[in-house]
Amino acid sequence: MSSDAPDYGELVRETWTAWAAEQYPVKSSWLLPWAEIDEGQREVDRRIGTAVAAAERARIYAELGNDHFVIFTEDRWTVEHSVECRLSGQMPECAYHEAIADIAADGPDPEMMGRWLISEIDSAGLPSLTRASGGDGPVRPQDGPRTAGQGRAGVTGYREP
Ligand SMILES: [Zn+2]
Repeated sequence: MSSDAPDYGELVRETWTAWAAEQYPVKSSWLLPWAEIDEGQREVDRRIGTAVAAAERARIYAELGNDHFVIFTEDRWTVEHSVECRLSGQMPECAYHEAIADIAADGPDPEMMGRWLISEIDSAGLPSLTRASGGDGPVRPQDGPRTAGQGRAGVTGYREP
């Protein structure tokens, strides 16, 4: 979790006091709002909130997938960022985007038109791409992943808008 992500401690406390208000008998300390509890109790509430938020993020990533894709067309390329990338607030520094910008700087390659899964970035900063759709015919698993280097030649003046 990035440091600026909400910790939901106050939400945990609000939920707690709403429950406490329904109890009888109720201890008066149970009804204290966030602003009036001590730092130790706030820390507990933050940890609960952080744990629940992390579990929910993991569920969302599992549900929606957490991959990066790139789409090459004749006049542009576009990275589809992962859900995690979009939610983290780190998209402007995305390593996948940087890697694609590097290989696309020379322009479009007719063989690379279509949508590709960016499966990894190697130690040299080159992305490994696996065709997801587009191009000639259906995806053929026997083709295996293509490295970006295979699609670099013969193109110029290609910039993401
Ligand atoms: Zn990204």
